[in-house]
Amino acid sequence: MSTIAHLINGEIVFRSGRTTAVYNPALGAAIRQVELADASTVQQAIEAAQAAFPAWRNTPPAKRAQVMFRFKQLLEANKDKIAALISEEHGKTLEDALGELQRGIENVEYACGAPELLKGEYNRNVGPAIDSWSDFQPLGVVAGITPFNFPAMVPLWMYPLAIVCGNCFILKPSERDPSSTLLIAELLHEAGLPKGVLNVVNGDKAAVDALIEAPEVKAISFVGSTPIAEYIYREANKHGKRVQALGGAKNHAVVLPDADLDNAVNALMGAAYGSCGERCMAISVVVAVGDQVADALIERLVPKIQALKIGAGTACGLDMGPLVSAAARDKVKGYIDAGVAQGAKLVVDGRQLVVPGCEDGYFVGGTLFDQVTPQMSIYQEEIFGPVLCVVRAASLEQAMQLINDHEYGNGTCLFTRDGEAARLFCDEIEVGMVGVNVPLPVPVSYHSFGGWKRSLFGDLHAYGPDGVRFYTKRKTITQRWPQRASHEAAQFAFPSNG
Ligand code: NAD
Repeated sequence: MSTIAHLINGEIVFRSGRTTAVYNPALGAAIRQVELADASTVQQAIEAAQAAFPAWRNTPPAKRAQVMFRFKQLLEANKDKIAALISEEHGKTLEDALGELQRGIENVEYACGAPELLKGEYNRNVGPAIDSWSDFQPLGVVAGITPFNFPAMVPLWMYPLAIVCGNCFILKPSERDPSSTLLIAELLHEAGLPKGVLNVVNGDKAAVDALIEAPEVKAISFVGSTPIAEYIYREANKHGKRVQALGGAKNHAVVLPDADLDNAVNALMGAAYGSCGERCMAISVVVAVGDQVADALIERLVPKIQALKIGAGTACGLDMGPLVSAAARDKVKGYIDAGVAQGAKLVVDGRQLVVPGCEDGYFVGGTLFDQVTPQMSIYQEEIFGPVLCVVRAASLEQAMQLINDHEYGNGTCLFTRDGEAARLFCDEIEVGMVGVNVPLPVPVSYHSFGGWKRSLFGDLHAYGPDGVRFYTKRKTITQRWPQRASHEAAQFAFPSNG
């Protein structure tokens, strides 16, 4: 069985320490193993990044951008190979893996604009013969810790931008599906990235804690579940670092009586069951306004859920693959059991699904609950599986109150033809990413991604303009060149234009 190692200072490094198995979730079989870095391996990566920083910081942004242009071309040339690895280890369909990679490539395209993004701000004559400008300088060595559900896209949210801003980066990907992430990092070296600018350490909590504790690491970007996001935000803050920690979600779609129901149902199918529900922007709750809307939605959803094409993600033309692990499958089934026990009406039950040829795979079929109430655990907690809950509300205001009362605030969507309702929803909803007739309102690369409430700890969202701010520190320079003949008396009052 092959072993996935680390990428440090431009070389693949084996340390023969602890390892863990990497599975093909469609087969329920271990296919590789991955090394789990200890503190000394993390330190080796930090030292490589520190050594690379002075030269990289002084490399012109246009030269850094040229590396990103070549990287984009290599990602496109290798997209089928990358998607196959994602699909094999994560379980998502090939089409979905290609979609995730494309969104990641769009972040690389944004990073290609480095000279424009780092232009700074300038004012002439802020005072007599005084000019002032703000410069955005790199932080130094920064780190990213990423989840299993987007092994290509989420790392690409982080390091292309951090690197074009002049930083050196250490990535700690998910240990559950590390192969595509490592291949992509190797492609960036093939594109001409100097050694040590990007380092990948595979591992678990031990590697994360070593990054948090290292004084050389100036900032941490994290994406994953809320308990770990909160832990990383708190601990990294204690160590004086800049942190953005993106957490879990419970995304509601509200359907009003005037919505185009057929379109809403198709949108809900993809948003609830795509990637087997393992997306932080997945819709997991539909709030139907009025019983008629709820009944009509359920009538349309049931045959589509029963017709979902489910199998090994690596086969073409499927709607859904397996969950990532046996533990994830058992957790999702446990939530379905809890929903039944707590009195929700189980309309479609995915617990018994068996996929021929993949009998040991971690599959759960599309599942639908009706009559879900805010007191139930299937409403309150992130299930991260193919389970959609219908909650019935009497009005838009009641639907919005539910969303605003929920602990998470990542994404939400309203289906309607009523502009006034849409405007109220966009103004008043306590959620970071809002769709109107758009079920997965994931911001494009030149906006920024982030939730509110317990879906994000920190001030700045990921990638886009917020990403540039996160990976740079502002320096403001005020410079005076008086004419040679002028002489000034000492001034003891605070300088101003008064
Ligand atoms: P996770 O929190 O288990 O793991 C994320 C990362 O943290 C991994 O690299 C993992 O190795 C590391 N980690 C795990 N336990 C740790 C610990 N005790 N101490 C330190 N590090 C630890 O998340 P996951 O299961 O890989 O991903 C799914 C979760 O990520 C879901 O909750 C999903 O909503 C969330 N997610 C959020 C976003 C977002 O943008 N808000 C995007 C994708 C995924």
